[in-house]
Amino acid sequence: MPQIFVDGRAIAAKDGQTVLAAALESGVDLPYFCYHPALSIAGSCRVCVVQVEGRSWVEIACNMPATEGLRVLTDSELVREHRKSMLELTLLNHPVDCGICDKAGECTLQDYHYRFHGEPSVSHEPKVRATKHHPLSSRIVLDNERCILCSRCVRFTHEVSKSHALGIVQRGDHSLVRAVEDGAFERDAYSDNVVDLCPVGALLSRSFLHKARVWYLEPTASVCPGCARGCEVDVWHRKKAWTLHALDPARNTSIERVTPRGASGADGPWICNKGRDLARIFERPRATQAMVAGAPVALDAAIDAARELLASALRPAALVSSWGSNEELAAFERAFGGRLDCRVKDDWQPQPGEVVEDDFLIRADKNPNNAAAKARFASWDGTFRAGTDLVVVWGEGFDLGGVPASARVICLDGYASEMHRAADVFIPITLQTERRGHYTNFEGKVGAFEPCFNRPAFAADAETLFAALAARMGVPA
Ligand code: SF4
Ligand code: SF4
Repeated sequence: MPQIFVDGRAIAAKDGQTVLAAALESGVDLPYFCYHPALSIAGSCRVCVVQVEGRSWVEIACNMPATEGLRVLTDSELVREHRKSMLELTLLNHPVDCGICDKAGECTLQDYHYRFHGEPSVSHEPKVRATKHHPLSSRIVLDNERCILCSRCVRFTHEVSKSHALGIVQRGDHSLVRAVEDGAFERDAYSDNVVDLCPVGALLSRSFLHKARVWYLEPTASVCPGCARGCEVDVWHRKKAWTLHALDPARNTSIERVTPRGASGADGPWICNKGRDLARIFERPRATQAMVAGAPVALDAAIDAARELLASALRPAALVSSWGSNEELAAFERAFGGRLDCRVKDDWQPQPGEVVEDDFLIRADKNPNNAAAKARFASWDGTFRAGTDLVVVWGEGFDLGGVPASARVICLDGYASEMHRAADVFIPITLQTERRGHYTNFEGKVGAFEPCFNRPAFAADAETLFAALAARMGVPA
């Protein structure tokens, strides 16, 4: 482990580490645009420069090996002067349209300009114009005027997603990021990561375009339920302090965007596009009405009716949700494990057009908690025991028409379906975004999710519901 000195402070670098990586890891505040710990070194933005003590020139820290005894300065007059002129060059043709840019509030160019430069441009030449809103794919548009040619997006498609879908054409101030013409970027299941990677607002997600200023939003830690990988994500929604009372109050409980959480864990800092589109899963029409024999009833009345059916059944069975949290599964087992023939079903199957599986993140099992569910209960083989007289169906993925003709049905689901009318008792339950819990992914890694929104009055919290039914059935909660 070589020891280096940054501004006189001793830092223990890892073998093979660069000065920039070691300095950042130790909390030294060095600016950079093109560097990214998960991508190869490009060395193109030149703002991470440092001065080796005793030398009269500056060098880029992202490509400087941390060698024993190396002493560098990050705030010498020479470094400050060079950094400032590099920012001047970077901003030379940048449109500075922060007022309408989705990246404003999260833009490193904005931040660095105020910290390391802060003066108006000295150039009297008109800025070089380039294409605005160039469609890179059906998901992403590119504003070439904002692009600072850091090449992070290009390197991502070559080194991480391996679609080799982006490149840079032309030269000098005519250089443009462009997608290859065979549609590879459209097919890249990880393409939206380039929006996060872009240090400025050049790459824009169509689903988030001009939707919200980021300072009105806050992230809530969650787990993507899109497949058994269970990537840790941040679900972004409106801050309570900025609740809308007019305009469109529905936006207060909308998922505005989803981003990968942190850089740790098996999934790294990346997620697939399905994870970005969680609003399409969570914002489907809700089940809002409890029912008994297809007729609307109060939630408590439906819970009482469910308890009656459970108490009188002789050979009850249950289809357990593979989307239930670890806590809900434990509550379900406590309530029903000894009395019901409990089997785990797949709530979701791969959808048409979806990437089923790849050798990166995406798993063929499209359920987030199959591992934990199957650790408690056997898998459902598609049949019921002879004489089954009650089936509790928890979650999606099962056609109620498949219940034996002589059996009664209790159904618990968060999403609307015409099929629910066919159940003897239907109880609407909360969604993942309204409760706290954990999923265990296929590798045994446990991920936590927190509530983004309050529980609506029409929905029962499944964990509490199971405990309540257990108490009424005389089973200790
Ligand atoms: S579009 Fe963004 S990420 Fe890509 S080269 Fe330009 S500035 Fe870098
Ligand atoms: S790989 Fe699976 S868990 Fe990760 S973001 Fe994609 S669908 Fe979600």
